[in-house]
Amino acid sequence: MAESCTSLPNPDATAIDVPTRQRARLLLPVPLDGIYDYRIPQGITVEPGSIVVVPFAGRRLIGVVWDDAPPDSDEAEVPESKLKPIEMVFDVPPLPAYLRRLVEWVSNYTLAPLGAVLRMALGPVDSLSPLPGKTAFIAAGITPDGAKLTQARRRVLEALTPGAPMSAAELAEAADCGTSVIRAMTKAGLLIETKVAARAPRPRPDGTRPLPHLSEDQAAAAEVAVAAVEARRFETLLLDGVTGSGKTEVYFNAIAAALKAGRQVLVLLPEIALGAQWQSRFERQFGCRPAIWHSEVGHNNRRDLWRDVALGQAQIVIGARSALFLPFPDLGLIVVDEEHDTSFKQEDGVIYHARDMAIVRASIEAIPIILASATPSLESLVNAERGRYRRLVLPDRHGGAALPDIELVDLRVDKPARQRFLSPKLLTGLRQVLDAGEQAMLFLNRRGYAPLTLCRTCGHRLECPNCTAWLVEHRLVRKLACHHCGYAAPLPETCPICHEEHSFAACGPGVERLAEEVSECFPEARFAVMASDMLMGPHAAAELVAKVQNHEIDLLIGTQMMAKGHHFPMLTLVGVVDADLGLAGGDLRAGERTFQLLHQVAGRAGREERPGRVLLQTFDPEQPVLQALAAQDRDGFLAVESEARRSRGLPPHGRLAALIVSGPDAESADAAAAGLARAAPHSRGIDILGPAPAPLAVLRGRHRRRFLVKAGREVNLQALLRQWLGRIRLPASIRLQIDVDPYSFL
Ligand code: ADP
Ligand code: ZN
Repeated sequence: MAESCTSLPNPDATAIDVPTRQRARLLLPVPLDGIYDYRIPQGITVEPGSIVVVPFAGRRLIGVVWDDAPPDSDEAEVPESKLKPIEMVFDVPPLPAYLRRLVEWVSNYTLAPLGAVLRMALGPVDSLSPLPGKTAFIAAGITPDGAKLTQARRRVLEALTPGAPMSAAELAEAADCGTSVIRAMTKAGLLIETKVAARAPRPRPDGTRPLPHLSEDQAAAAEVAVAAVEARRFETLLLDGVTGSGKTEVYFNAIAAALKAGRQVLVLLPEIALGAQWQSRFERQFGCRPAIWHSEVGHNNRRDLWRDVALGQAQIVIGARSALFLPFPDLGLIVVDEEHDTSFKQEDGVIYHARDMAIVRASIEAIPIILASATPSLESLVNAERGRYRRLVLPDRHGGAALPDIELVDLRVDKPARQRFLSPKLLTGLRQVLDAGEQAMLFLNRRGYAPLTLCRTCGHRLECPNCTAWLVEHRLVRKLACHHCGYAAPLPETCPICHEEHSFAACGPGVERLAEEVSECFPEARFAVMASDMLMGPHAAAELVAKVQNHEIDLLIGTQMMAKGHHFPMLTLVGVVDADLGLAGGDLRAGERTFQLLHQVAGRAGREERPGRVLLQTFDPEQPVLQALAAQDRDGFLAVESEARRSRGLPPHGRLAALIVSGPDAESADAAAAGLARAAPHSRGIDILGPAPAPLAVLRGRHRRRFLVKAGREVNLQALLRQWLGRIRLPASIRLQIDVDPYSFL
């Protein structure tokens, strides 16, 4: 009925003063590039950025009113009579123009469809409608007689701030417990149930609290950053300072300046660095918890936060990479901490680098961006050399804490016992530290018990049925698992090839196996393993970190999850079990990444008055990366690395894109790859390598072939790729993944 009403001929249509905008161009969050025309019915007003509902291919979809086509565009006009109407407009602010430009930019750069990028900028659907009143809880403020305070109940009370009621679901999520705990606490008189008309307003971070007195270098860096915030100008500041030099303090100064100016702030952090320690530090400085956006944040919190950001009510958001697409109406500063971290690169869906696109956002919004790191990426350092970024250096650890001493342990000389992985030198070091009542950490970037299981009788290796990858044994959960596709199966009783019983041998160590060795060598030591698959969620991780801080743990064994940000004053020895691990394989950044990771791990040792010591176990002590680590010569290493890349035309001195063609079987993948190869462009300044089977030749059952496109920095890589791909048609069973500036070479 509504349909026929709004489609009645409008008697005013021919009148002179009628608004001319009867149609709107809409971008829909579907993986298509198309912008679609819709009719704006009477009674509905829209503007660019308005979020609306429209019919599309028999469904109803959310869409965003996009800007008018440029006057010279050759978009075909659909006749008015064929247009479907916009059905409704949501009562939220329109997507800001800056964000619309960012969506276009990212699509253009990554070659991902516009609609797919738009999807990242839209929150959960229910962020778009205001919420009805709901039941919420506040702390009673007293502990009635007989009410027991269990761990979970304590966490619930800690999660509550006075004056800010929370729903049962929010509380349960914040306290990592079931909603039954909330009900029981209400019954016991620990919580009081109330009704809230709407959500309580988000607490406002306070930018006027006193900041710590800064050292000379810190003050100089902070001054530049604060001035850029106050001047509201685009500038990329590379805050390059050793671990513990006060980078966080410096960017807190810039955040305070943005808050004082009443503007919003986005801080991007790698997901695993977003720990409790960072959050409580933030809370101490700004007087409230930061709003957090990442994949583990529950649906309701995401919904509320998206809306609050759009309304300008959330002033600071700390998030992992996808926070980049939040609809801030008035952003004043972006900070990317640990800017070198490769987790900023999203590897599926829209393949983009959040650090790089954050710089784009800052330039579109004309605001400063701070990139902080103790081991900046070569990309950023070269940009600083070229004068595109301004480098701010903090050369010293705060309070004069010494950098740890880094020694290489040659495993060919200092051999571990048979089926063991810790060298006598490292064992002695651990013994000394434990005897002195200090703490130690063993780092091995490998989850599980053993990376490879083979049959001693016939040599058969247990492989994933869906991927070109070994199955990794996880002994604690009695499983073999594929770390690429998630396949899991119990360890078979007999070898599937030779049928010999009990013939499997574990090859090489994972953290679980290391834990076994530690418990045999140091039976009295209290140890724990920190790896992403062994901790159930952020609360478990935070609890473990707290235990280490309280010295309830003597020895921590972990993967890279442990490398970030934590500050353990009693930790004086770090043992890197296999320093060669990251250097194998055909990754152009293997050396750089190993340096960054091991440097970061080393930075865990000796953060206060106790000096730290780091032992790197290696079979190749001459390796330049390890030599540079031992000599603490980051800049020397990077100079050599940079030159090596320059001579091979690799990033950051040249441009790179990867194309991965995949099909359900080897033949179709090969045929598609051959078709692509025939259509490949030949021009000066570009070099196309491949097709070749990808190192992960089969992944989740799909057969993969790879091209690598190398081009000079002057080449418009995107235009070239568009022309190339425009010339071919691929069968429906074939998928093509385009990765501009690839970081993964698997
Ligand atoms: P980074 O981010 O470079 O690793 P942090 O900002 O975390 O360094 O500083 C390391 C430690 O030193 C932190 O505990 C921090 O609070 C402290 N710190 C740094 N600068 C100062 C300062 N100017 N005054 C007081 N404490 C400081
Ligand atoms: Zn697999």
